[in-house]
Amino acid sequence: MMENNLPKILCVDDELGILESLERTLRRRFEVLLATDTIDAFAILEQNPDISVVISDHILGTENGVEFLSKVEKAVPSCGRVLLSGQIDLKSMEDAINTAKVHKFIMKPWENDQLLIQVVEAYKFHKSLMESQRLQKLAITDPVTQLTNHRFFQERIRIEFDRHKDKKRALSLIMIDIDHFKKFNDRFGHPEGDKLLAQVAEELKNNCPEGDSISRYGGEEFAVILPNTTSEEALMVAERMRNHVLNCSFNNYPLSISLGIASYPQHADSVDELIISADQSLYQAKRRGRNQTVVGLNFDH
Ligand code: GH3
Ligand code: MG
Ligand code: MG
Repeated sequence: MMENNLPKILCVDDELGILESLERTLRRRFEVLLATDTIDAFAILEQNPDISVVISDHILGTENGVEFLSKVEKAVPSCGRVLLSGQIDLKSMEDAINTAKVHKFIMKPWENDQLLIQVVEAYKFHKSLMESQRLQKLAITDPVTQLTNHRFFQERIRIEFDRHKDKKRALSLIMIDIDHFKKFNDRFGHPEGDKLLAQVAEELKNNCPEGDSISRYGGEEFAVILPNTTSEEALMVAERMRNHVLNCSFNNYPLSISLGIASYPQHADSVDELIISADQSLYQAKRRGRNQTVVGLNFDH
């Protein structure tokens, strides 16, 4: 069977005749899925997360198409939304734009060519949203480890710092550095080093309280932001990570990490001091023989 690469759209109408006629026109450009009520429609949406456009009739038996499309907007915001209507007053149109963020209106009876143009426009909205989401993700993702990158870390730590400015709760930072990573590169080459870096990143991420709290700071260094966490609690997280990496068999290559912790307001007065303080703790961990965690050297003015 030939692979069907057409974009998927979902048409919802309580009249089968309308659905059939929509399908006849739209199947030239789309893979058309059909539903006669909103329960069916949501089941189809759940099974097909790649649906790009939803077309709904204004009146769906006892249900309201605008309400349905506004639920679609909440569940799958990236879908293009098209409202079909026999007649629609200005108030309902306003509602449709404001609550359901409908992109296109199609009046019944429609001209087939016009219908296709309008639905393709809604599809273009979906495509451009997906593309901008992809670019946004790319801008904050490290390509080697798939962790968030340095840029994301710098933004996130400032946001968290502002949230902790009242000093009611502590904000902790763990800086991590792989021990003797250069030796691995020297022995096995950089491409293998990249693979190992990705594996270590994955193991560290799996041992973070929140998956998105860890970023690649640079090179073979990682940073973990721990909101609402004291330095004692951060130490437990750090030690769990250190022991986990130690027990991992990276293709039988023994690997350890060193970690430095600093907390606000205990060890620093600003974001920059917090980062420097965690870095200084990490440096101490290296000096003391690696494979260990050092907590909170006060920021050295
Ligand atoms: P230490 O225990 O003191 O941290 O020793 P180290 O060898 O890990 O540290 P050093 O700072 O001397 O060297 C860091 C090494 O990390 C050198 C570099 O080859 C490697 N590295 C940094 N970024 C990457 C990367 O993206 N890919 C690979 N393969 N290696 C990297
Ligand atoms: Mg290192
Ligand atoms: Mg380093």
